[in-house]
Amino acid sequence: NNEAYLARQAEFESNVRSYPRKLPLAIAQAQGVWITDVEKNQYLDCLAGAGTLALGHNHPDILQSIQNVITSGLPLHTLDLTTPLKDRFSEYLLSLLPGQGKEYCLQFCGPSGADAVEAALKLAKKHTGRTGVISFSGGYHGMTHGALAVTGNLSPKEAINGMMPEVQFMPYPHQYRCPLGIGGDAGVKALTYYFDNLINDVESGVRKPAAVILEAVQGEGGVNPAPAEWLQRIRKVTKEHGILLILDEVQAGFARTGKFFAFEHAGIEPDIIVMSKAVGGGLPLAVLGIKKEFDAWEPGHHTGTFRGNQLAMATGLTTLQHLKDNNIADKVAEQGEWLKGKLAEMQQRYPVIGHVRGLGLMIGIEIVKADAEPDHMGSYPADGALSALLQKKCFENGLILERGGRHGSVLRLLPSLLISNDELNIFLDKFEHALLSAGV
Ligand code: PMP
Repeated sequence: NNEAYLARQAEFESNVRSYPRKLPLAIAQAQGVWITDVEKNQYLDCLAGAGTLALGHNHPDILQSIQNVITSGLPLHTLDLTTPLKDRFSEYLLSLLPGQGKEYCLQFCGPSGADAVEAALKLAKKHTGRTGVISFSGGYHGMTHGALAVTGNLSPKEAINGMMPEVQFMPYPHQYRCPLGIGGDAGVKALTYYFDNLINDVESGVRKPAAVILEAVQGEGGVNPAPAEWLQRIRKVTKEHGILLILDEVQAGFARTGKFFAFEHAGIEPDIIVMSKAVGGGLPLAVLGIKKEFDAWEPGHHTGTFRGNQLAMATGLTTLQHLKDNNIADKVAEQGEWLKGKLAEMQQRYPVIGHVRGLGLMIGIEIVKADAEPDHMGSYPADGALSALLQKKCFENGLILERGGRHGSVLRLLPSLLISNDELNIFLDKFEHALLSAGV
């Protein structure tokens, strides 16, 4: 049973991992948006491998693409040597980047999102000869040293000293906790002032950075979409000041937000695009899209053993083609708006739902202490404990959700992008059931 497997795992592993702690099941099978545990309980999976499984679990086309590689005689591991499959994958991926990728080249990195973030930071330092980076509160970029350094959350950094130097954090727009301020007109003006007047000013203490790194929709930070004008202004000032703009699309990319890339909502072109999760169709792969003019690598400057995962390129190519050929971004955009509407209706009945936000199928439900005093912005204090209880109640009711944001107060939906409307209705039923059983 689940318990026995979890107890054995606790013996095998060096510490208690966070997912099994929150979601205590041993998985036997999965199909589409459904996971079945070893006791044959079924769960609606709105986590989807932390947003990786764009086509859901075990999509037949994904399985077939793996089968094709296995029977073709291709080596599974090729370092970064080329193969016809890598050739097709690269051509297709490039064609999806802004301007059909004509101005971009790709860099295959190690298997994880953090690997690609590291490469992006190194490249920006190398290209500009500067060291600093500007990043944002609530941003998440991974757990390796550099990626953690630019992550705007103190808790995973607590045990570690000696971070990468000169990371300056700026506030990221927040629709609920700072409704007009940062992303609004005044915020955009303040941003311009910062870049135009403070950077490299002797008396400001702000050195000119190599890069600005951000997510167009923050994921782990609690599902925060940045306003288009704010992103456009960041694009403008970084270009004017010769600072590279790195867009981390690891979670928000690949039709997740209702556009192929989340930065497309603002119509901007990044200098470096960080891609992982769905780009490998469920298998480990991380790639940078680099504007050719910033490709400063020389031989040996950035290498790594696992950059040629043929299976991941096969499943990645299948995923990208499926998303594109079936116009999944539009479907996702429509479903997202519908779902936010339904959740807003639920918010009327359950005041602990402080705010519903997001784009496409990247949606956050912020849980608050509804009987406390609102702050000067009119928002209620985040309730991480209640959010954790709701996550547990959801789980007991066969619904898998992740949390994020302030004190983990935001329940997050990142389901397969192929989720049906019927399955979204099941989500709503299960979620409301969890609210009722939590007695809120
Ligand atoms: N960037 C973003 C936006 C992410 O959401 C994540 C993972 N959640 C990462 C980077 C790091 O990716 P990985 O866990 O594969 O290193």
